[in-house]
Amino acid sequence: MQRFSDLAESVSEIAIPGNQIVMVSEKKVLVVGAGLAGLAAACALRKNGFDVSVLEAAAHPGGRVVRKVVDAFQIDLGANLFLETFATANQLADQLGVPLRRTPVPINSGIYRNGRFYGLYGDNRPSSLWKTARTMLSFQLLSPKGMWQVAKFARMLQARKDDLSFDDHSRMLDLDTDESATEFFESKIGTDCLEWLFGPGLSGYTFAHPEQVGAAYAMATLWHFGMNGVAWPVLPEGGMGAFVDALVEACGSSLRLSTPVRRIVLENGAAKGVVTDAGFVEANAVICATTASVALDIAPDLPLAVRDTLRRVTYSKCCRVFFGLDSSPFPPDWYAVSFPRQTGALVTGMSNAAVLAPQTVPKGTALIDALVIDQQAEELFSLSDEKILERVLSEVVRYVPKMSREPLFTHVHRWPEAMCLSPGGTMTALYRTRQEGLGGIGGLLLAGDYMGMPSANAALRSGLDAADAAAEYLL
Ligand SMILES: Cc1cc2nc3c(=O)[nH]c(=O)nc-3n(C[C@H](O)[C@H](O)[C@H](O)COP(=O)(O)OP(=O)(O)OC[C@H]3O[C@@H](n4cnc5c(N)ncnc54)[C@H](O)[C@@H]3O)c2cc1C
Repeated sequence: MQRFSDLAESVSEIAIPGNQIVMVSEKKVLVVGAGLAGLAAACALRKNGFDVSVLEAAAHPGGRVVRKVVDAFQIDLGANLFLETFATANQLADQLGVPLRRTPVPINSGIYRNGRFYGLYGDNRPSSLWKTARTMLSFQLLSPKGMWQVAKFARMLQARKDDLSFDDHSRMLDLDTDESATEFFESKIGTDCLEWLFGPGLSGYTFAHPEQVGAAYAMATLWHFGMNGVAWPVLPEGGMGAFVDALVEACGSSLRLSTPVRRIVLENGAAKGVVTDAGFVEANAVICATTASVALDIAPDLPLAVRDTLRRVTYSKCCRVFFGLDSSPFPPDWYAVSFPRQTGALVTGMSNAAVLAPQTVPKGTALIDALVIDQQAEELFSLSDEKILERVLSEVVRYVPKMSREPLFTHVHRWPEAMCLSPGGTMTALYRTRQEGLGGIGGLLLAGDYMGMPSANAALRSGLDAADAAAEYLL
């Protein structure tokens, strides 16, 4: 059978060995959750002739990819970019007819220390290299010891670069020990450069700190989001929301919004269907494409070992405060500024979406996103939007004096489950669980970013893999 990775032309019959013809449209597959994983699975199955329904709890599809439009600003409240190295996302975008465009400029940013910002430049011009070296000097990363450690880390990444894949993470599982990234790097390269080198890069992407993730996860993230120098961000013309629109269109009429699944029903070691508020819905296979925490809630009959593995998955928390502005408060060619943990700042970083995606905001304006993560985000969750705004803005103007106190608009978004973190050893445990067929449960597949190297790309990949596995089971 053709793998869905290739998204074959629509068929209503599929030949299986022995010349028997199966009417695949008679096989009902239920997909729980219309995030990227669920939508990718549904559109692949539908394209191959299966009878698919996607049951989504929320009133909108996309999960952690959410678009909000304010005036002429299109705001990606969740994921906002792919990388050129995300093979699954790039291929799927191509097949869906969604052109991805490279961000127009290299990613330059500033890092805060002792009352000022030091620049980190994403291009290879001699002046930029010199300015970046000066930044590293001022952070003592180029002290003889720090330099040795940075070089050692760079050698480690270079040696494993082909394994650090967001599409197939199976080759980096030997790096996924039970240690946290902090413990792993402390023992392998030393402690001097650790926080200054790994902190801002990791925190900006994962909304967490190096002690909260495993080493393989941290290495792949740092390699693709900064240190390989070639992984350019790419995004659809209309922002990530446009990609979700295309997936939804490809799913046709199979999507049911505002339909939370209360329980996945397993009987005699196989999936039989799901329970919704309207009653029992029968199916030949079920793909659970929610977060791991929801999967634990709605599939209480999963084998104990599978449940134990799912319990290891954690998620970061973040609060994003968006400001529409007439102009950017950063130097003209900067995308972002970051505040390492040692500064004690409430905000971990600020970025200007207009630099990455100028087409999503009115010409000449800026869309600033101030990010608060982890415990500090959790503390904000209980406050009203007005209070959060007040606290964040009063902090931001202390560090970035050019920040306007009278933005065009503001928007506060809370993410109690933001990025999947995969603490050390979790990716390996999940990989084994999948290889072992969820402890022998037939017709139940798990999909979601947590099944791979957490990202929008892994979510899509896991959806296509689950579609393949469901089809294999049904045929
Ligand atoms: C702020 C933020 C920024 C990010 N930035 C990036 C980025 O730039 N690049 C990148 O690659 N990744 C990024 N990510 C991560 C990326 O968004 C996720 O990895 C990806 O979207 C996860 O997709 P998913 O389908 O696995 O899960 P989800 O998107 O969480 O989808 C799960 C779906 O299941 C639904 N659901 C839950 N319970 C039920 C139920 N009982 N019944 C039915 N449906 C249910 C949910 O409503 C949701 O729609 C970011 C994430 C966040 C939060």
